[in-house]
Amino acid sequence: MFYIIPTLLLFKTSLSLCGKVAQLTSEAPLIVVSLVSPQYHRGTNHSENYMTRNQPHHQTEMAKEFCLEDYDAIGFDLDNTLAMYNLKNLMELEYNCLAEYLVEHKNYNKEALLKPFNEESTAFLQRGLIVDSKRGNLLKLDSTGRIMKVAHGLSFLTTEEIKKTYGDQLTWDVTNEFVKDYLSTWNGPLSEQMRSFLDYFDMPGSLIFARAVEYIDKQNNGRPLDSYNVFKDMVDGFFYMYSSEHFAENKGKFFPAIKQYPDKYYTKCSPHILEWLKALKNKNKILFLLTGSYVDYASHTAKTCLGEDWKQYFDFIGYFSKKPGFFTGVNRPFLRISNSKEKDEILHSELEPGQSFSQGNWDGLMEAIKKSLNKTNIKTLYLGDNFIQDLYTPSKYSHWDTVAVCAEQAAEGFHTKLDPDSSHLKSNLWDSYFYITSNQKKYPTLWTDILKKHCKICVPSISYLASEPINKTYSTFDHEDLGLNTDGFHPK
Ligand SMILES: [Mg+2]
Repeated sequence: MFYIIPTLLLFKTSLSLCGKVAQLTSEAPLIVVSLVSPQYHRGTNHSENYMTRNQPHHQTEMAKEFCLEDYDAIGFDLDNTLAMYNLKNLMELEYNCLAEYLVEHKNYNKEALLKPFNEESTAFLQRGLIVDSKRGNLLKLDSTGRIMKVAHGLSFLTTEEIKKTYGDQLTWDVTNEFVKDYLSTWNGPLSEQMRSFLDYFDMPGSLIFARAVEYIDKQNNGRPLDSYNVFKDMVDGFFYMYSSEHFAENKGKFFPAIKQYPDKYYTKCSPHILEWLKALKNKNKILFLLTGSYVDYASHTAKTCLGEDWKQYFDFIGYFSKKPGFFTGVNRPFLRISNSKEKDEILHSELEPGQSFSQGNWDGLMEAIKKSLNKTNIKTLYLGDNFIQDLYTPSKYSHWDTVAVCAEQAAEGFHTKLDPDSSHLKSNLWDSYFYITSNQKKYPTLWTDILKKHCKICVPSISYLASEPINKTYSTFDHEDLGLNTDGFHPK
């Protein structure tokens, strides 16, 4: 989940590696844009962003059909991909943990933050909202980088107000860099200015951010401040919640609750999914699990959702993979696991099927898989829910094909059957996860653009894929499409 990597906090993580904050310790991506670089000051307009954004790398660039049977190796993310949570309960827990931290440790106002997590709360939430930390704004961008929606506190700005803040082009230098390369703001100076709440482990943070800004403005006679510290305080709170020591030591509210009430927070994996994993293995495919979670939390999650014998489904299990760094760096060491702890380095040439490791890199894993299949060229697929860590980065940097698991698809009934039970993932205030309506026209969001350029297909759940034949062919997204192409959404 968690992409908040202010430079200062990178130092913190060296002493205590976090389970659910794996991203905080990810190594710098390939490009870190300096605040003083000419490129930064020049700025770009939205069409330039769109045209200069790096194009995808796909193993089957021209293929218009996708079939699971075509792959030699199939990898899975764990949280919210294979291991499903009760998201309403999970987000409520996260909201309460973070709000209580801010009240108890940072002196935030109790009445402003400690509110019931109800329908009104979830209506304000959407995955992928971007924080403009200094101005206290939450932003939603279209695929070209235009800032189409802005909330300051809990109030939405009019288009005229957005133009006053971000200019007539509706753009901001920092998000322009982000749109050109989604890893450019991952860490370094730009990461202190903007962050995106990319998945369900930090999504409730946007409501806390908005409520805190709203309260601060009220205390300032309704006037916005020049600069807010709310986001920095929230980052400290996320560290506290997700510190990996807290899982082992039963501290920090989040992990103790997850451990104590598994039925409240996890959803057991359906038997047909487990059968499907076995069937894939029986077709001589290498199956691997690659999770950002630290070994103890990941094992707890996998055991609870997939059963005691969960390891049998995978040939390789990679913990604490520090995505996206796993996909961008080739020299990151693989570490042996013993007694649920990281130990000494293990060479990728020593990796054998049936083995677990921590950290590592995609290139070494590929070499190990090729060796076990006795093949020099293999086709690899990865399935995940995080649009940058699981979809964009492996597609762009490791040339893997990807499948998006996106619960919003069913929550909105977007080119698939509506699932009323996931209405907490739907926000009428922020419009669709997949598009933004302006002057009665629908514009694809950044996230839809990642689907089109970096994914074969998008499904609401692994359960759906597992209920279909392994040799079924699916229509794929059109990578060249500039509009709202929906060919890759399944089931229709
Ligand atoms: Mg995930």
